[in-house]
Amino acid sequence: MKIVVLDGYTENPGDLSWGGFEALGELTVYNRTKAEEIAGRIGDAEIVITNKTPISSATMEKCPNIRYIGVLATGYNVVDTEAARKRDIAVSNIPTYGTDAVGQFAIALLLEICHHIGHHSMEVRRGRWENNPDWCFWDYPLIELAGKTMGVIGFGRIGRTTARIAQSMGMKVLAYDEYRNPDFEKEGCRYAELSELLAESDVIALHCPLFPSTEGMINKETIAKMKDGVIILNNSRGALIKEQDLAEALASGKVYAAGLDVVSTEPIKEDNPLLSAPNCFITPHISWAPRESRKRLMDIAVHNLKAFLEG
Ligand code: NAD
Repeated sequence: MKIVVLDGYTENPGDLSWGGFEALGELTVYNRTKAEEIAGRIGDAEIVITNKTPISSATMEKCPNIRYIGVLATGYNVVDTEAARKRDIAVSNIPTYGTDAVGQFAIALLLEICHHIGHHSMEVRRGRWENNPDWCFWDYPLIELAGKTMGVIGFGRIGRTTARIAQSMGMKVLAYDEYRNPDFEKEGCRYAELSELLAESDVIALHCPLFPSTEGMINKETIAKMKDGVIILNNSRGALIKEQDLAEALASGKVYAAGLDVVSTEPIKEDNPLLSAPNCFITPHISWAPRESRKRLMDIAVHNLKAFLEG
């Protein structure tokens, strides 16, 4: 059984170990794989493991031995699942490994926006402390969150985690999900239709998956329905947001700030309009990556593959 890992981050693995996979077959781990290398590297392997490398219908066509694609992530939009289904290729994702980490990171983005800790920490190193003739710490205003309203779009595992942490800071939570669920009220949140959530939230956190129906859901029209000075958080998938529209809203002040761990094209392109917005806080898709989550990710990935091999 040949197992090919297309993006195993071998150059900088941290404490990731591929030992669990080694025990299950003949393992080849690549650091990263470019689009034109994908089919050649998979070759006649039966098992493909990917994190962000896309597996298209064309790749499945060129590599007819594939029987299983393990996605080392929660979101599985990197795989053409419809094409996989037609070819009887099993696809597994790992929905639970990073729920706490990703919720925590959404709140970390929010807290950075509300406190500018990175900025103030640098200012102290430049010799500044509270008021100076040429500088004042409240040029970077601090924002109290208690009593403010967070709207969570996509009230699944991560959305609920973000909501719970927000509630623990005294925020009210409005929840919108494609599937309304009586549990929302049990969680102390109020269900809101999308238009109501957009109009009433001081902070909007995106936690729904990227589907054709959700792509570009934050755009000129939906931003216009939001409160002036809203904060937008996205550590789900970048393409949920039309980035040019968000950049314009950040420049006009309609959106006070955005905290993004994901962008539409990753790694981020130099001409991404959000890069020139000082009120846009961007991190390189790392919400998933605390040491504890990565260990859980690898353990579950091996467990999933074993379960597949055992039928
Ligand atoms: P989940 O399936 O538990 O929750 C997703 C929720 O979104 C579900 O309740 C679903 O009903 C809802 N939803 C689907 N379509 C919707 C729509 N059109 N409008 C509103 N809600 C809709 O998934 P999860 O574990 O909470 O993960 C959410 C997303 O987080 C993943 O899809 C992934 O893209 C992202 N993620 C990002 C990172 C990262 O490192 N940045 C890590 C893990 C997951």
